[in-house]
Amino acid sequence: MASIQAVRGTRDILPEEIGYWQQVETIARDILARAAFKEIRTPIFEQTDLFERGIGEATDVVGKEMYTFLDKGDRSNTLRPEGTAGVVRSYIEQKLHAQGGVQRLWYMGPMFRYERPQAGRQRQFHQLGLEMLGSADVRADVESIALAVDILKAVGLDELVLEMNSLGTKADRVQYRETLVNYLRPYQADLDPDSQDRLTRNPLRILDSKAAKTQEILQDAPLLGNSLSDESQTRFEKVKGLLSDLGITYKLNPKLVRGLDYYSHTAFEFQSVQFGAVGGGGRYDGLVSELGGPETAAIGWAIGLERLIGLLQQLQPKPESQADFYLVSRGEQAEAQALKMAQQLRQAGFKAELDLSGSAFGKQFKRADRSGAAACLILGDAEAENQQVQLKWLGTGEQSEMAQTDLLGQLDELRSAIAAVRA
Ligand code: AMP
Repeated sequence: MASIQAVRGTRDILPEEIGYWQQVETIARDILARAAFKEIRTPIFEQTDLFERGIGEATDVVGKEMYTFLDKGDRSNTLRPEGTAGVVRSYIEQKLHAQGGVQRLWYMGPMFRYERPQAGRQRQFHQLGLEMLGSADVRADVESIALAVDILKAVGLDELVLEMNSLGTKADRVQYRETLVNYLRPYQADLDPDSQDRLTRNPLRILDSKAAKTQEILQDAPLLGNSLSDESQTRFEKVKGLLSDLGITYKLNPKLVRGLDYYSHTAFEFQSVQFGAVGGGGRYDGLVSELGGPETAAIGWAIGLERLIGLLQQLQPKPESQADFYLVSRGEQAEAQALKMAQQLRQAGFKAELDLSGSAFGKQFKRADRSGAAACLILGDAEAENQQVQLKWLGTGEQSEMAQTDLLGQLDELRSAIAAVRA
């Protein structure tokens, strides 16, 4: 019988890769907690309407890429393609706005988009995201960008390029939309099919097109920046000024529009050579009211973890979680004592790995060496009989025998010795 495989566009994250994920998660949690951000966990699926209203039906994400299904009660549900809409739904439904002040939230988890799988693009992928709701202040834009920069730097990715643009207000974009469409119309037949389609549905997204001919046509296209009101321009200048004050460098990209409809003013992306965008975000002042909540200014970003970790894997050795002790035992009595000793060591805070193979000592020793543990604890029939244990430091080969109670009576000394080996 043919074996069952993972669904196309999904993948297993195996233990050999998980160290990278845990390292990134720990660093992100720590940096976000220091900035008083709190984690929020919203459902993996929501009513389809939420995404249609929140992200916009003219976007690729909603128009082409959603995993939508009818449940047994004939209700249309959708696996979340991104995190912001769910967080905003929760913000409104749970009346988080009634708490006053700014809600500083972050999330991490799987997202689903029916895209064509390729390197760095999957149908189930993970995002780390941040949402800051309730502040229109330019400092909110800068603070949220600075936190993304901090996280990317702390994990070891400093070569990403921060690209910035301002999308202005809705009124600015309505005006620009007309200017852009007027410019593109004469070239309509030469645009790629997607862009032709977008000309009526979502013309700003044409700026994102990767098609060479379309890009050529766009070379002389009017820029969104020139359609911004004075107010919007001043706002963008302030954001840029504050970023520079923090020593954050960026590149202006006047064609950066982002895929989702709800963005306004600040829009940004972190670009890599290998995968294109690793993360991005922007201000979405209209979304909360669009979804039935009070007028609320907000800004957020999301970083794609597969892309981020894909880059880290090329730059850094695998983070290993090595045991302190590897327990080797043979014989019924010795094996029972080793099991007990492993538990006692774990309860005392050590990492202890128990060899369960029952194979010859030689084979167990080889596995002990490969495990990367600092020390090996050995129990055979003779040791078991006398309640003794052999302690062997795997780095030096130095070995000594002692009473089991003595070993467990000198935990502080063992901790220091292990710290010295690891240093
Ligand atoms: P977006 O919500 O489209 O702005 O995406 C934010 C980030 O999520 C991107 O920069 C990518 O790193 C990541 N991302 C988006 N779609 C995918 C996908 N299909 N597979 C892997 N990562 C993705």
